[in-house]
Amino acid sequence: MLKEIEKYAKEHKVPIMLKDGIEYLCNYIQENHIQNILEIGTAIGYSAIKMALVKENIHITTIERDEERYNIALENIRNMHLEDRVTLILGDAMEVNVTGNFDLIFIDASKGHSIDFFEKYEPYLKKGGTIITDNLSFHGLVENEALAVTKNQKGLVKRIKKFIDFLENNPNYCTNYIEVGDKISISIKK
Ligand code: SAH
Ligand code: MG
Repeated sequence: MLKEIEKYAKEHKVPIMLKDGIEYLCNYIQENHIQNILEIGTAIGYSAIKMALVKENIHITTIERDEERYNIALENIRNMHLEDRVTLILGDAMEVNVTGNFDLIFIDASKGHSIDFFEKYEPYLKKGGTIITDNLSFHGLVENEALAVTKNQKGLVKRIKKFIDFLENNPNYCTNYIEVGDKISISIKK
């Protein structure tokens, strides 16, 4: 099943988490006894399924704005019999509302809006909880800005750098960066 989802993602260019990144995330969930997770950016449900499979007591709320992907995610989650533990929300994460008190928030949506997602959802994070954000490297362009050629790429690099600045200067969180996948940040709420 998971192999099929990976294949679908590859064929349809759905940017699911890379192997080392998702493995790191799942280990983090296991080691820190995480139970309640909020994910921004479901795509077709790959990372949500992987995280839910770490342990039976894990519950995930995940938001996706693309209706086609949302429908595929729904089907994948049903096929895995995880519908009781994975709650899907269709909508723009900046517009929908969630309830809950999460141990982990995983931000993996539009790369240029991480600050917005972080600020909107951090009130729903428990003290001592973690916010993990994907795509801090943007395929190396953030570290090597000369590689950014199009206006769009340059704009995104600027926004990702702004997000890193925001994390560095956020007195309520302590952030580390891990070179897995497309580089992730791990911010722990003090
Ligand atoms: N976490 C997934 C991959 C997510 S790809 C995995 O690893 O399996 C990023 C997804 O975020 C895309 O499907 C995109 O449609 C969605 N997205 C981008 N901006 C969003 C927003 N503002 N609200 C909800 N979803 C968003
Ligand atoms: Mg990503």
